[in-house]
Amino acid sequence: MTVHFPFQNTYSALPASFFARVAPTPVAAPRLIKLNRPLALQLGLDPDLLESPEGAEILAGKRLPDGADPIAMAYAGHQFGHFVPQLGDGRAILLGEVIDKDGIRRDIQLKGSGPTPFSRRGDGRAALGPVLREYIVSEAMCALGIPTTRSLAAVTSGERVQRETMLPGAVLTRVASSHIRVGTFQFFAARGDTDGVRKLADHVIARHYPDIGMAERPYHALLERVVARQADLVARWLLVGFIHGVMNTDNTSVSGETIDYGPCAFMDDYNPAQVFSSIDEMGRYAYANQPQIALWNLTRLAECLLPLLADDKDKAIEQAQMILGEFAEKFTTAYQSGLRKKIGLFIARDGDEALVQDLLDAMAKNAADFTLTFRGLANAAADSDDSVRAQFTDPAAFDEWAVRWRTRIADEPQSPAERQAAMRAVNPAFIPRNHRVEAVIQAALNDDYAPFEELLAVLSKPYEDQPQFAAYTEPPLPEQRVTQTFCGT
Ligand code: AMP
Ligand code: MG
Repeated sequence: MTVHFPFQNTYSALPASFFARVAPTPVAAPRLIKLNRPLALQLGLDPDLLESPEGAEILAGKRLPDGADPIAMAYAGHQFGHFVPQLGDGRAILLGEVIDKDGIRRDIQLKGSGPTPFSRRGDGRAALGPVLREYIVSEAMCALGIPTTRSLAAVTSGERVQRETMLPGAVLTRVASSHIRVGTFQFFAARGDTDGVRKLADHVIARHYPDIGMAERPYHALLERVVARQADLVARWLLVGFIHGVMNTDNTSVSGETIDYGPCAFMDDYNPAQVFSSIDEMGRYAYANQPQIALWNLTRLAECLLPLLADDKDKAIEQAQMILGEFAEKFTTAYQSGLRKKIGLFIARDGDEALVQDLLDAMAKNAADFTLTFRGLANAAADSDDSVRAQFTDPAAFDEWAVRWRTRIADEPQSPAERQAAMRAVNPAFIPRNHRVEAVIQAALNDDYAPFEELLAVLSKPYEDQPQFAAYTEPPLPEQRVTQTFCGT
């Protein structure tokens, strides 16, 4: 039996300027580390066959499945605010698209599968550590209910890659509703290729926003939709303490999925200025900057779409600004409603925003763990305050706030048990804490994948108490703290 991928490719049918046809480079000795069996089934793939030696060869790029039309996608992008007219998939190759069990088109892409015409000076490869990090964090995001690319498989290549040291090479199979980025639009716009921009916009509309295809002004609607999805996405990031780390326009998906897990991390102590990425020296992509950076990136998208919005440039700019102007309200609505839920409020009242902000301020002052504070607050809704108080260096700071909180929740009819259940459903117990991710990677480098498997299992049910895994809820000890994360390119 051979592995069958039911490909139905559309991107590779776009004009030749959109991509480069390139096959993965065979690797020495592929070995499957992990197959995401539920995701394989969702994609209409046979997990048993993918776990066979032939399957591992496909997932390592050593063998092409029937019907694959492998391409590296062209894109540009602003990296840390500086425009690079040509980036493109330098170490990723799109095998093709399949329609999943829900009827959604999904890209299947190998990341780390060898050089492409867009590799510049890179080797087209990926090291094991970053592959495992992306696998863990992307699947954790999915379990948390946050739009994201998925990880179908991780394989080791049997080859070493040169980074600061020699490291084991690996390939990640990434699944996305598409890999089209703001930077993909910039690629054509920067070349003055308005026809390319239009063709790309039409493709994105048909693929991600088919209901606006017949709209009177489909390109305005497209910008509106992408603005809405990004506003929602960034709000969700903030609500779980996620820091993307490299919010460049080439890492901003027009579908609104979280994409390109590099030096990303979840924060432990609440600190709005938190930065983990070693390359983000100015803190451009700090936790609390993420909404304004998303808007900056969307503004770059709007610039690309100007020629499609109106013939008159000033009119086009005015219309784009109107749409971009909706971002702030969309973000604030999503973020504030999420925060209200996190503190157990069912309806909105004047003063709620200030109430939550005062809690956040006290958390920042008291080095309170973001995740454990909100999970502890759920306990406090029906049981004891102990677990939440313990997060504050000065527990009296929580007590003072809790008096106001209890007065506020007394306005609502829900029982303590109902409130607690609702709070537990939005305040995770388990997040992929950085020190855990690092420990898993260290074990894997010693060929021990048991910690990787265990962490994945724990993170697949983030909102459930899993008492046997309580240690995974804990923040790092001072000596376990990971203060920097690396891009892993
Ligand atoms: P990233 O920072 O991962 O979003 O990547 C930025 C750009 O660098 C993209 O065009 C990547 O394809 C490219 N790139 C990153 N790592 C490599 C590598 N090892 N080999 C070739 N290109 C790479
Ligand atoms: Mg990228």
